[in-house]
Amino acid sequence: MRFASLGSGSEGNGLVVEAGDTRVLMDCGFGLADSVARLARLGLQPGDFAGIVVTHEHGDHIGGVGRLARKYRLPVWLTAGTLGMAQDLDGVAVQVIDSHAAFVVDGLEIQPYPVPHDAREPVQYVFGDGERRLGVLTDAGCSTPHIEAMLAGVDALVLECNHDAAMLENGPYPAGLKRRVGGRFGHLENGQSAALLDRLKHAKLQCVMAAHVSKKNNTAALAQCALSRVLGCADDDVRVACQTAGFDWIRI
Ligand SMILES: [Zn+2]
Ligand SMILES: [Zn+2]
Repeated sequence: MRFASLGSGSEGNGLVVEAGDTRVLMDCGFGLADSVARLARLGLQPGDFAGIVVTHEHGDHIGGVGRLARKYRLPVWLTAGTLGMAQDLDGVAVQVIDSHAAFVVDGLEIQPYPVPHDAREPVQYVFGDGERRLGVLTDAGCSTPHIEAMLAGVDALVLECNHDAAMLENGPYPAGLKRRVGGRFGHLENGQSAALLDRLKHAKLQCVMAAHVSKKNNTAALAQCALSRVLGCADDDVRVACQTAGFDWIRI
């Protein structure tokens, strides 16, 4: 099983997960030509995908889904709440999922789980091939016992490190947006992500990627520092998904 990122952050997200010949895209917040170019960097074309799983209706996650799915006839899986808020899915073959029920797409088992975030019915996902599991958690204002149960024992983790609390507090966002981002339905702050990782870490956790790092309210170095303390590794050993380049294939 392997995975790679098309880009990560408030300007657009996309994660490719592959098990054998099965490939799904989780979210697509990029324009059509940009998405195709980002996929080409990974040696992929849109037609290589079994479909797109969507986490929630925010533009950085769903903004490019409709165009890509229509043009390349890709099915889209999403919750009823996300479908209700989606603006651009006319003509797309949508499959409404239960936010608690795992489903299978060819060789991939996909387990959605609900998260606290300011969207209608947001979920995140754990992907498995029967041997290994990849957990993804971005766009959550806080952790919950359910999140931690879903991510327990994963072999790899893509974990939001959205902001640094002091940078958000002292940064350029208006007060209302600061409250939203830092609130219980906003985004994970470095310290929250580190505390969660501390509860989740286990001997077989091979890989942790910091993701959805804010350009205005965080730095890669701060995110790396927060997670490396928990993992007991050098800061540079923590990899960070960036907005422009995402990250290259990681095999687990
Ligand atoms: Zn987001
Ligand atoms: Zn969001």
